[in-house]
Amino acid sequence: MLNCDILISAEVIVTQNANRDILYQAALAVTGGTIAALGQRVDLEKEYQPKRVLKLGKSLLMPGLVNAHTHMPMTVMRGKADDLPLMDWLNGHIFPLERRLDPHIIQVGTELACAEMLRTGATAFCDMYLNESTIYRTADRIGLKALVGEGIFNFPTLGCENPADALPLARSRAEELRGNPRIRYSIAPHAVYTTTPELLAACAGLARELELPLQIHLAETRSETEQCLKLYGIRPLELACRAGILGPDTTIAHGVDLTEEEMDLLAESATVVAHNPRSNMKLASGAAPIARMLEKGVPLGLGTDGAASNNTLNMFAEMSACALLHKHVGQESTALPAQSVLDMATLGGARALHRPELGSLGIGGPADLTALDLASPNLLPLYSPVSHLVYAASGHEVILTMVDGNILYENGKFNSIDYPALLREVAEINVFMQKQN
Ligand SMILES: [Zn+2]
Repeated sequence: MLNCDILISAEVIVTQNANRDILYQAALAVTGGTIAALGQRVDLEKEYQPKRVLKLGKSLLMPGLVNAHTHMPMTVMRGKADDLPLMDWLNGHIFPLERRLDPHIIQVGTELACAEMLRTGATAFCDMYLNESTIYRTADRIGLKALVGEGIFNFPTLGCENPADALPLARSRAEELRGNPRIRYSIAPHAVYTTTPELLAACAGLARELELPLQIHLAETRSETEQCLKLYGIRPLELACRAGILGPDTTIAHGVDLTEEEMDLLAESATVVAHNPRSNMKLASGAAPIARMLEKGVPLGLGTDGAASNNTLNMFAEMSACALLHKHVGQESTALPAQSVLDMATLGGARALHRPELGSLGIGGPADLTALDLASPNLLPLYSPVSHLVYAASGHEVILTMVDGNILYENGKFNSIDYPALLREVAEINVFMQKQN
């Protein structure tokens, strides 16, 4: 008999491996945070002597979802300002609220975001915000994986008072995280309209020098394009291209306002696009041409964006929104089939975080996974597990979420978050934020 730490059995295992194998009456053995075996339950039960047995019964096990674009602490602004014109929302509400944030609020907002993601099956995320060190230290303590970056702007921010310090700060943060198994640093210029072409080129140079990924908001709205054309005479993607930003180590968030040639450029350069359908719809930014990008082979991840513009960090909600949006806008019911959407939320997320080991379950890979209760009425009967994950699941069927073999969420309990204390802190912030306008 072989030893293992945990032997998990489930009715269905959706592997998201290269063959997209789905196993029935299956089991998975975990040792030292890694998947040691995956196969039929009867076989693994004979082969392994586990320290802990987790018989999940009528449940579905799958890779942890990967949220390809978010701003974790924005959970504290959830529902504070909705249904407003974009510029009024941003300048009249979000930016003034952001000026009220301090490290404590950012920490609590991040804990809340981690809780919400674990509760809805996500194990990794890509984040860009202000005071990012508070975010990644909090996420690291709780046990999630992330690609993070302090947002780089050409004006003073909460996280960096002098824009001239932005790149040295990124350098020191990257140094702090070097060798961290869960959290990795990226260079994160906020957008073309909050930086300059020179600053973008410097960001691209630093990313290359330090061999780090780069993330940026790009081509999010038509007004971004118009402003860029007015200022520089070229469109945002062209500007980013000239600054040396595009490439396989770069993730662009949104990619809504794109031409055919720009999509070709993204495909040729293997630049990853993090698609945020709910945020794009809520802010009326338009529909990113995802069906076209899928045809052209652009690497695609799926993200929630911040909770102020969604208003949830639930990747199941994002998956169904993604599938429905693109069928609707294209008036084509075959667009974005369930398997493609699940791929975006798992393997595509791994591309967006530049960590190919994430997003699938396979021997030797990390035990980053989540399980859903298949006895939930909305998941019955079961013909196609992938269909249910995209069209029927709400995310609240999640009964277990694990990262590197550590159970972080199980049946209503968070093992690395003091949830009652978090509730009290969120309540205090609620009172404080209520007073802000
Ligand atoms: Zn964003």
